[in-house]
Order: sequence, then structure tokens, then C-alpha cells
Amino acid sequence: MNYRHHFHAGNFADVMKHALLTELVRALQKKAKGFLYLDTHAGRGSYDLDVAARGDTRERKPEWPDGVGRLWQRADAPAALAGFLALLREFDGREGNLTALPRFYPGSPRLVQALARPVDRQVWCEMHPAECGALRAAGGRHSGVEVRETDGYGALRALLPPPERRALVLLDPPYEAPEEFARVVAALAEGGRRFPSGVYAVWYPLTGRARVDEFLAAVLAQRPPSALAAEVEIAGEASSLKLRGCGLLVINPPWQFAETARAILSYLAEALAQAPGGGARVEWVVPPA
Ligand code: SAM
Repeated sequence: MNYRHHFHAGNFADVMKHALLTELVRALQKKAKGFLYLDTHAGRGSYDLDVAARGDTRERKPEWPDGVGRLWQRADAPAALAGFLALLREFDGREGNLTALPRFYPGSPRLVQALARPVDRQVWCEMHPAECGALRAAGGRHSGVEVRETDGYGALRALLPPPERRALVLLDPPYEAPEEFARVVAALAEGGRRFPSGVYAVWYPLTGRARVDEFLAAVLAQRPPSALAAEVEIAGEASSLKLRGCGLLVINPPWQFAETARAILSYLAEALAQAPGGGARVEWVVPPA
């Protein structure tokens, strides 16, 4: 467990994941009934971008300037993305930033917390003790939020089906281990068995097309009611970037989410491009019946 999200906070992959997550929450909130938000790999909750460049022992090139940094002053974003950027600016100001550059960036749990209504319940799981401590300190004492220092995959078994009969589950593992995709597939199978109508969102890296296609084929084989893959590439295949794209697989996406995701990702593919050949792709893995 060496992964620390701090170094990547606010990069292009975070921005795409969090913009789509915001849309999923907003879509679920179109109904008055509350829902469970389960964050299986929550991270520390919020990130100070000023320290993001400093590792434990070595300096690193910060990634946020080519992510949230490129969007901070843009006023031409599509409506759904503009709303997300406004949320980021509000969070940054509330945490005390007085400068023109972004400084405090919310992770997935704090972002959802900023949107949550009193009827919505949140469970944040994080296995790394230090990250989990920071998560607890950052926002875990609020009512409606439970922080668990635990294996997030196991939480699916413990918490599904939820009494609310509505859930949004975010699976955002670090993909450090070669078996991570297999663990995600097993977790989705478990979720599908326990609570087939839940909305499951899985972030994945586009480091190799074949591996991702194998993952999507395994999801298809589970025959979920519907599944959508939303991907962005900031560079083409010829690029030497370690991470040149990423995706969010959404099982049971809310109505019209595909169209909104397309608008958001087409804009991001252009605004965050680092080399030619990138683009956005939003495709049904399992179309709705
Ligand atoms: N979801 C966060 C966000 O968007 O702000 C970022 C999460 S980061 C990509 C992955 C996190 O998962 C790391 O903080 C890592 O410590 C944690 N982690 C790794 N394996 C885990 C597991 N099995 N269960 C829970 N957390 C785990």
C-alpha cells in the first residue's frame, strides 16, 4: 500500500472522475428519497495542492497544473462542468485559499459531502491508517457520514443492499497491484448479486487498451441491467505519457447521464490535451433494455 493520492490530486484523471461523480449525485438527487453513497477507496478527503509536489523524500512535478489548473479561469465550460467548477471554487475558498490559483482540492468523499442532503447517507472506506486519519479529521465527524478504516471491497458485502434501497457506489482503487481489475470485477459481481439496481461507478486507467477491453468484457459477462463506459484520452497511443487516459464505468447510469458525460468529456479532451491523438468516448457496454 504505497499509493498516496496527494501527488495526483487535481490532475486530469481526478477532474474527469469528480466531474462525472458530481453529475451522478445530482442525477440521484432528482428524487426526494435519500440514498447511500459508498466510497470504497476514499483517500484522505481533501488535498493541499501546495504540498502535492513534495513526496516523503523527493520533489515531484505537480500534476494539478495540467488538470484543474487549466480549467480554473475558463468561463466557456458546458453547464454541467461549469457547476462542478463552481463547487471546486467554493470548496477552495471555504478551506481558506485567498490566491487566484487553486489550492485546496476536494477528494471524492468531500465532494459528495458538499452536495449531500440530510436524507443522504455516506460511508467512506479507506484502508491506509494515515490517510484514514486525515479523512476522519477532514469531514468524517459530520452527521450522515461514517468513516471506516477497512478494505473497501469488503464493505460491499457488509453494506449492500442498503435500507434506503438506493445506492451510489464509487470504486476508485489505486491499480498498483496486477490483480486490481480482477478484484473490481469480483466486487461488481458481489454488488450485482446483492443489490442489482445500485449505481456502481468504477474509475480505471487507460494504460493498455487490451486490459481495459478484457475488463469491460468481464463486466458484460455479468449481464448488468445497463453499463456505460465514459473515457477521455489526453494524448494518442504514440505518447510516452505513463497515464494518457482514463475511464469511468457506470453500471445502471441515471437517465441522460450518457449525454451529459459526452458533453463534459468532449470539452475536457480538448481543454486538457497534452499531445495530439486524444479524444472522448462514451459507449454502452450493455445498453439499457
Ligand atoms: N477516491 C479518492 C478521490 O477521488 O479523491 C481517491 C482514492 S485513491 C485513487 C485510492 C485510495 O485507496 C488510496 O488512498 C489507498 O490508500 C486506498 N486503498 C488501497 N487499497 C484499499 C482497499 N482495499 N480498501 C480501501 N482503501 C484502499
